[in-house]
Amino acid sequence: MSLNPVPLFIGGEWVRPALATTPVYNPSTGAVIAECPAGAAAEVNAAVDAAVAAFPAWSETPAVERARVFFKFKALLEDNFEELIRLNTREHGKTLAESRGDVKRGIEMVEFSCGLPSLLMGDMLENVARGIDCDTVRQPLGVCAGITPFNFPAMVPLWMYPVALVCGNTFVLKPSEKVPLTATRIVELLDKAGLPKGVLNIVHGGRECVDAILTHPKIKAISFVGSTPVARHVFEVGTRHGKRVQANGGAKNFVFLMPDADVENSARGVIEAAFGCAGERCMAGSTAVVIGDAASKVLPATLDAARAIRIGPTDREAQPQMGPVITRQHRDRVEQLIESGLNEGATAAVDGRSARVAEEPNGFFLGATVLDNIVPGMTVAREEIFGPVLNVMRFDELDAAIEVANQSPYGNGASIFTRSGKAAREFKHRIKAGMVGINIGVPASMAWFPFSGWDASFFGDLHIQGKEGLQFYTQQKVTTSRWFSYGEGDIWHK
Ligand code: NAD
Repeated sequence: MSLNPVPLFIGGEWVRPALATTPVYNPSTGAVIAECPAGAAAEVNAAVDAAVAAFPAWSETPAVERARVFFKFKALLEDNFEELIRLNTREHGKTLAESRGDVKRGIEMVEFSCGLPSLLMGDMLENVARGIDCDTVRQPLGVCAGITPFNFPAMVPLWMYPVALVCGNTFVLKPSEKVPLTATRIVELLDKAGLPKGVLNIVHGGRECVDAILTHPKIKAISFVGSTPVARHVFEVGTRHGKRVQANGGAKNFVFLMPDADVENSARGVIEAAFGCAGERCMAGSTAVVIGDAASKVLPATLDAARAIRIGPTDREAQPQMGPVITRQHRDRVEQLIESGLNEGATAAVDGRSARVAEEPNGFFLGATVLDNIVPGMTVAREEIFGPVLNVMRFDELDAAIEVANQSPYGNGASIFTRSGKAAREFKHRIKAGMVGINIGVPASMAWFPFSGWDASFFGDLHIQGKEGLQFYTQQKVTTSRWFSYGEGDIWHK
């Protein structure tokens, strides 16, 4: 199967798109490596029709048999691991080590999904009244859809359809038009694992395609991951059209550095949190909150480490520490945000704007940047930058810092580096964020726990991952039963 132009996958067939107009870049070189379909409502309709047709047989397939397809799928993902991480790096630009993490986290979702039959079991209580029993079973919803962002081409689609499918639903996936290749190749492996035709379908495109999904009368539930304005749009339009929606949005995550923090480990933790994946993570630790003496103890080591970050192309064997950002436009936007920070009173403790990569002058590179003396209200303090920029805010004590952090409209992650159990406990209890790290810079929860964003980082009730993920993709049926007498011919009948 050729990935250029990127094909659709409908009813078990790879379909050549009518229109392929969105370029997919290799961010390391700036070269166009594929064309992605623009997408149209007709393609969404065809994909949903295929998913509707596949639903009766797939939902009646025993859950253990459905899970067995995913055991095979996991083996195929592992057999093709090296190829997948290279493809992921080629279209996204993250380092091979970061792609390894992206694919591994995705495989963990498949592992979680293989064990779903035990979590799908219902409850039962005998004698809720005399001679009356009550039980619950979980049933699939029907056709579900997933819309994914550019920053984790392997993991985020795998947050969604393995759980939805083992629960007995059928699915339509719309990957990011910036990185459709890894997601498509992974679905090819699932097809090889023996998934029946039409159970999973892929469409491509941007807003037009998404709006066709949001309003389609036969789609029952939508999982979305992306920026906050689009997450809000998806939630509002999807729920207005009677669908369940879980929509993960953007973030601004705070990493607190206490004066007693271990210098080496916390400086490394902040650097990894801010600059891993070139800062293009919803769990990026994009603001260091420096308390009291941490400014003279931890901050200098952090700045030295930021200055030392080597940038370069990631699509070859010699690996840099940090790769490019996703597109030229995105790099321009991040540079403009840095500029606005400086105009509004921040100081550039490290300025990566002039960093160059001689061997790849057309790559989308930007060096690590640290903006100090950030105060609430600045554009860079409010907006998600989603690039290799670390903001530094300074406070005299923990309470005031928590108060300011809690005013953020977002609520994805927050971390603290400290040796004090009491400080860690207070932070964990009082910080307004759904995922908390204690001496961990990126507390992204793993497959077995909910990916628990709050406030403007999440719209909906049931999160992706963990038990909430399976609750999202199923509905409960409660049966209350009573039998008046033994039936005619019953062997117990006297
Ligand atoms: P994005 O919102 O631009 O795009 C996400 C998806 O929505 C894509 O499939 C895209 O085609 C579609 N889309 C874009 N604009 C649209 C519009 N106007 N109407 C309908 N659909 C539209 O996000 P992105 O730039 O691909 O990804 C980065 C964002 O995703 C960041 O904000 C990041 O924080 C967020 N993110 C959040 C999480 C989380 O779990 N909270 C995880 C990963 C990424």
